[in-house]
Amino acid sequence: MQPLSYKAEKFGIKKALAYLEKNPEKNLGKLMDWVDRFAGDSFEVQRGYFRKYIVDEPESNWHQLAVSVLTDIDNKVLQTIFTNFFLNANITGWTRQEEVREKYGCNVPWAILLDPTSACNLHCQGCWAAEYGNKLNLSFEEIDNIIEQGKDLGVYFYIYTGGEPLIRKKDIIALCEKHSDCVFLSFTNGTLIDEEFAKEMLRVRNFVPAISLEGFEDATDGRRGNGVYQKARNAMEILKKNRLLFGISACYTSANMESITSEAFYDSLIESGAYFIWYFHYMPVGKDAVPSLLPTPEQRKYIYNKIREYRQTKAIFGMDFQNDGEYVGGCIAGGRRYLHINANGDMDPCVFIHYSDSNIREKTLLEGLRSPLFMAYHDGQPFNDNHLRPCPMLENPDILRNMIRNTGAASTDMEAPESVEQLCSRCDHYAEHWKATADELWENCQKKREHKAQKQV
Ligand code: SF4
Repeated sequence: MQPLSYKAEKFGIKKALAYLEKNPEKNLGKLMDWVDRFAGDSFEVQRGYFRKYIVDEPESNWHQLAVSVLTDIDNKVLQTIFTNFFLNANITGWTRQEEVREKYGCNVPWAILLDPTSACNLHCQGCWAAEYGNKLNLSFEEIDNIIEQGKDLGVYFYIYTGGEPLIRKKDIIALCEKHSDCVFLSFTNGTLIDEEFAKEMLRVRNFVPAISLEGFEDATDGRRGNGVYQKARNAMEILKKNRLLFGISACYTSANMESITSEAFYDSLIESGAYFIWYFHYMPVGKDAVPSLLPTPEQRKYIYNKIREYRQTKAIFGMDFQNDGEYVGGCIAGGRRYLHINANGDMDPCVFIHYSDSNIREKTLLEGLRSPLFMAYHDGQPFNDNHLRPCPMLENPDILRNMIRNTGAASTDMEAPESVEQLCSRCDHYAEHWKATADELWENCQKKREHKAQKQV
């Protein structure tokens, strides 16, 4: 049971959010006062940044983004997501995760990714989800049990991947309802979002879609099939009209990197009502992988700079999964901050690393986190001091080779099991060539940090 003071502060934050709807410009500071009281010593640095860029600089893109969220999103949805994400997942949940981490000497995640189904209503070229075949599902009871176990460990953030998770719409809404203290995000092609589903989202209030786009119409339909772009746009219109929070997920490759990071693309997303864009680097995983789609060092450097530039100027939150290691201390997989459970129940350390020595149908989450493979992640992280080379597969393939050989973890690829040698051999050339550029960028980044620290002293 939560202590009374916790409940009182939480109530206060909800009240502050209700005020904000009326006058966000004026009341943002009040919300931060409540959050500071609730958080105590936790996340002091992050809260400092929040205050500096969002509250105190009305001209900044971050301030504009915050005001837009506060005025354009349904206030009850906002209250629920704020409470579940910031307070449950990041403050109280984090404390619990640290306790369990300390007690058992293993990683404990902040988020759990899971595939409700391997089935999909589309047949995109080279989709890794298709590797799992099309007949696998986690039952409602299994997902419910994962969430119950997760909450015991302090995990209040669940992310659905797949397959197309919204094939399981009814179960997904029922799980939102049952676990009303959690926040659920789903990667989705968006084609199954309709008015009825939007109404259900408004009712449960704790579900956030991240719609996958490959760029504009030609690029999206070229990979996903004719008409998919328009359906995704239609979904975005429905979500905006119903004042719901949503974002975009986008995978950059050597072929689409310029258009998918173009200003026109960014502006079109802001216009459509998206609040975040989550970029992923193409990963050469699976038998149909195309190594030539891996960005060149020059292309990756361009993306690194471009997304950082937009963070200073655009009213949308852009994340770059492969280039943002500096903010999270490198690789976050293996349960350090997240893990992945596929539709067969296999616990993979990462959504891109399809090897496992644990299945949720045979082990508890905690047992899986203490398994040889997850402990190899725990003991090896960070895999590189340069957080622009964070990955045991993509940038340090010998590390994954050794971890899989030493732990005996098996391929979880149902359609075409892949040896670690096959997988890592596609990354050797990339890793070798990215090193010099990554080291140069990292050195600059360190210098900037030192300069900033000196200025603060
Ligand atoms: S295993 Fe690689 S892709 Fe996965 S979180 Fe770690 S660095 Fe990122």
